[in-house]
Amino acid sequence: MADPSAIAARLKTISHRIETAALAAGRDPAGITLIAVSKTHPVEAVRAALAAGARVFGENRVQEAAQKFPLEGASLHIIGSLQTNKAAQAVRLADSIDSLDRAALADAIDAAAQKTGRLPELLVQVNIGDEPQKSGVALAAADPFIRAMRARFGGRFTGLMCIPPEGRDPAPYFRSLAAMADVHGLAVRSMGMSGDFAIAIAAGATHLRIGTAIFGARPLPG
Ligand SMILES: *Cc1c(COP(=O)(O)O)cnc(C)c1O
Repeated sequence: MADPSAIAARLKTISHRIETAALAAGRDPAGITLIAVSKTHPVEAVRAALAAGARVFGENRVQEAAQKFPLEGASLHIIGSLQTNKAAQAVRLADSIDSLDRAALADAIDAAAQKTGRLPELLVQVNIGDEPQKSGVALAAADPFIRAMRARFGGRFTGLMCIPPEGRDPAPYFRSLAAMADVHGLAVRSMGMSGDFAIAIAAGATHLRIGTAIFGARPLPG
């Protein structure tokens, strides 16, 4: 159940913690975008966060996202690994696709964009810990893939996203994603979640993807 006042209170707390972490890192809090990750939570929870001032939302499944969005005043990021056969729906629905990680998906996004005349902003997801089971472009393939996406999508491709390995200090992984973005002149670095966003801010995150700390625990893994 969505409890609007609890969501509003948690959003306020997290916004304050983001501001504090930004200032501690010598950064302007205005340079950091909070993506409220609403996966598994009902549209009432999204509406509560929207009413409390959240403007950017993240969902990891396109079909689930389509049940809640579009919503007036809200922008939507698809942050989960995206099946090629869901690309057209993602292109129609999302303001940003943050999980571009392979050529076949780029082809599908491009084809859908040609058809609809609409191209969301795009981030390349990098498998920053080179974990075999994880989505994201492999480290060895990242530089050429990023160059190819820049050539293909131009200014609509704005940055990189990563999820560091669990159970390890995320700082070196965040720093290496930021360094990769620097090398390629990409402004957006989406990194940091409920448990590690302050570390991500210190490493140069521009976008934080925060679910649990805003919406509470998820009923199911998602
Ligand atoms: C669920 C999810 C998040 C949010 O995780 P929390 O720990 O709940 O903040 C961030 N990024 C991705 C890709 C996710 O799937």
